[in-house]
Amino acid sequence: MPNNFSQNHSSQNKPFRLSRRRLAAWYTGIMTLILMSCGFAIHRVVIHARWLNLVQEMQQLAIHLENRIEPALKQPGQLDATAQRLLPELCLNSTGCSQSLNPPESLGIKPFSNLEGKDYCIRFLDRYKRAVASLQFPVTNLACQEPQFWQTLKDSRGEQYHSQRFPLHISGGSWGTLQVARSLNDLDLYLAWIELALITMIGLGICSVGLASWWLAGLAMRPIEQSYQQMQQFTADAAHELRTPLAALQAIVQTALRSTDLTPEDAKGAFQILNRQNHRLTRLVQDLLILSQLDQQTDRQNFAPCCLNQLIQDLVDEFAALALAAQITLYFAIADKENLVQVAADSEQLYRAIANLLSNAIRYTPAQGEVTIRLNHNHSQAMIQVEDTGIGISAIEQSQIFNRFYRVDQGRSHHQGGAGLGLSITKTIIQNHRGSLSLISELGQGSQFTILLPLVSAKPLKGWKFRENSDRLSN
Ligand code: ADP
Repeated sequence: MPNNFSQNHSSQNKPFRLSRRRLAAWYTGIMTLILMSCGFAIHRVVIHARWLNLVQEMQQLAIHLENRIEPALKQPGQLDATAQRLLPELCLNSTGCSQSLNPPESLGIKPFSNLEGKDYCIRFLDRYKRAVASLQFPVTNLACQEPQFWQTLKDSRGEQYHSQRFPLHISGGSWGTLQVARSLNDLDLYLAWIELALITMIGLGICSVGLASWWLAGLAMRPIEQSYQQMQQFTADAAHELRTPLAALQAIVQTALRSTDLTPEDAKGAFQILNRQNHRLTRLVQDLLILSQLDQQTDRQNFAPCCLNQLIQDLVDEFAALALAAQITLYFAIADKENLVQVAADSEQLYRAIANLLSNAIRYTPAQGEVTIRLNHNHSQAMIQVEDTGIGISAIEQSQIFNRFYRVDQGRSHHQGGAGLGLSITKTIIQNHRGSLSLISELGQGSQFTILLPLVSAKPLKGWKFRENSDRLSN
């Protein structure tokens, strides 16, 4: 059958390309959403963790400062030189900073070595929120001295601070509050870095997902595209096969109608041709119907234990007359005559599958040739072989003859009546039975088709008698 689909291929591919693009776009869109949600969640988690860390760090610093200065907290809202001795960097609002700037370690905040590189402004407030003393870390952080710093919590460079207040207690009640403000600069830098890393990763992720989606969509579309093309090919082939006998029918009818001197012999001849063409059409339609039913068959409900000995015997009986007419010797060879070979099958389908092989073997074997059908089994499989001494099939054709509508010699096979569906029906039936169909053939020597089917059992023969002369049935 000519395959005229290559020129239409690109136009046929259009809807598939469109579907592939859409599928890839959907994949990418959904994956982008997922990636962005994950990125957003990671961002929130990192911010939260950092913020908790920062608050904890401020609390620890406040506790540490409170412990250091505690002996100097006597009167509510009052600090004196004792406090400056305990915290030398402390600047009292009343007397000012008492001594030169010391290295940060003198603050005694060694346990907070992670304070390095972070700016702190610290104030001691009395119960009326008035500043009593202040200090900063590092001691060179002059932002704390800026007049409106404590209103805006922003230094002259625009750096944001986070402020927290911690109540200070003395034995008689409240002393006032310790206000700690911490620069958010390092946190902002860290978050900017995280955002950059996340954006880069998500960007790269989206690009990779886009490429992978395109590839996956192609992979997903491939079987659909293939089955679509097969369906189109099948429809075109079927139409082609139907057209030929229909055209012949039409030509015969028109000739008969136009003829003014139609003799009874002519009419009979025309009817015979009509009958042949009708027979061909009926067979073709039946084959097409069977194929479509087989394609839809998904369950194995109709399968029941089927005795192959009986089934093959029936086939041999049916084909004996045909073989005789074709002057072909038909043999039935059964390896194990003691047991009945049983497989789970739809017996009608299996009958049709083997019948196709037998009818082909008789059809493609010249007179005086031999056709043998063998039944054998091992512990797990039943084997049916149909062997002939016919024309054989070339190695190149062997891979194609199971395709639908494929005929080795279009003219010859057509003449002999086949539409090229027999072997594909057989193969589909055997596959639906979880079996396999294979072929060994040599041009001019003959062919051997082998069916293997899963065995249900090989029961001892009971009540079924193997015909004595069945090994050689005709000719
Ligand atoms: P058809 O109904 O035309 O015979 P099949 O599908 O049964 O179609 O067979 C496909 C082709 O395979 C046939 O046209 C024929 O040329 C070749 N073929 C099948 N069986 C045999 C055989 N036993 N010996 C030689 N050729 C065969």
